Amino acid sequence: MSAVVLAQLDAILARATDLISKAPDAEGVEQCDIGLLGRKNGELTAILKTLSSLDEESRKTVGARANQVKNEIEVMINARRREFAALTGAGAIDISEPVLPRPEYGALHPITEVRQNLETFFRGKGFLVLDGPELESEFYNFEALNIPADHPARDMQDTFYIKDHPTLLMRTHTSGMQVRALQMYGAPLAAVVPGRCFRNEATDVRHEHTFYQFEGFVVGENVTLAHLKGTLEAAAQHLYGPQTHVRLRPKFYPFVEPGMNGEVTCVICAGQGCKLCKGTGWLEIFGCGMIHPEVLKAAKLDPKKVSGFAFGLGLTRIAMLKYGVGDVREFNAGDLNFLQQ
Ligand SMILES: [Zn+2]
Repeated sequence: MSAVVLAQLDAILARATDLISKAPDAEGVEQCDIGLLGRKNGELTAILKTLSSLDEESRKTVGARANQVKNEIEVMINARRREFAALTGAGAIDISEPVLPRPEYGALHPITEVRQNLETFFRGKGFLVLDGPELESEFYNFEALNIPADHPARDMQDTFYIKDHPTLLMRTHTSGMQVRALQMYGAPLAAVVPGRCFRNEATDVRHEHTFYQFEGFVVGENVTLAHLKGTLEAAAQHLYGPQTHVRLRPKFYPFVEPGMNGEVTCVICAGQGCKLCKGTGWLEIFGCGMIHPEVLKAAKLDPKKVSGFAFGLGLTRIAMLKYGVGDVREFNAGDLNFLQQ
């Protein structure tokens, strides 16, 4: 008798395995559950009900096997329930859903890239990297740099003044940090100051009211023009390659004496002459010179004991040359089409 029941249990398990694995959806799984394990008409339940008619020995054997089969069926049903729940619940993949736009990844602004590149270079040469106030006093922006109130350079560097604070202005260059830094750290000192500057300009492809400068200066005993040229050459070669040369040509800046333009061999034609360099083979990159004695005095240093050189370059211009940008206004326009190129 018990052998017959055991065979029935095996048959039920085999069929259950088949039915459960073939259930097409969650509904199908529930039907298997009811049909096999249901309290009223479940196939396995029906067999369990016959156990009482068996003798005690058979009841033990068959009962143990029946429980085993029941457990196996429950495990299979629960596994398939989870399977269908995952498909319809959270995390389900609905293939009819419209494709989401590709996430957009940010990148550094071209001017930021150029600035970080130069900062790394000068830090490696032992320069401090300093920050300074964009809202600057008239003293540090002009007077300390040998530009008194009646000096024509003030006209060329017209900027934005602050209503009700006549001595404050939006700085026109990063050079104001020369005296600030020397007052703070004294000499000897080697520092670079990247930063945003402002001028009251009528904007066009080459002029913008907001632009970025990169200032550098070294002050100490016996600092000479040769140090200046060597520094500029190293920076230019870092930017444009080892074949790059620098030449210095006189130019007036109120806060240096002598003042010079630092020109580098053209990045396009390498000195042959082209449209970019207007046929000269040279590009004007640096404004530079030996720091004016009046500036050293403003920083409470003795020009007889220490000397120094200073240079400035336009980060905006470097970025324009590097990326071939024709219109300076693109950098501040916030146009993603431009920035993503
Ligand atoms: Zn050229």
